[in-house]
Amino acid sequence: MFVNHCTSCDKKMLIFPSQVTGMAQIDGVNAMTYTCWCGSEQLWHDGAKVGQTEPALADIS
Ligand SMILES: [Zn+2]
Repeated sequence: MFVNHCTSCDKKMLIFPSQVTGMAQIDGVNAMTYTCWCGSEQLWHDGAKVGQTEPALADIS
């Protein structure tokens, strides 16, 4: 399980494996979709800030 910030309810929630709805590995980054306690579909990933607007992406080449 892991902790992630939900963009819908704006809370840090503890997410259990039973809430995970999908998993993928993209360019070496593990990504998971899960359903938050509030019912919102959310995305978690362990790498560079995929899909976010921050310009400072890590150079992994
Ligand atoms: Zn939520």
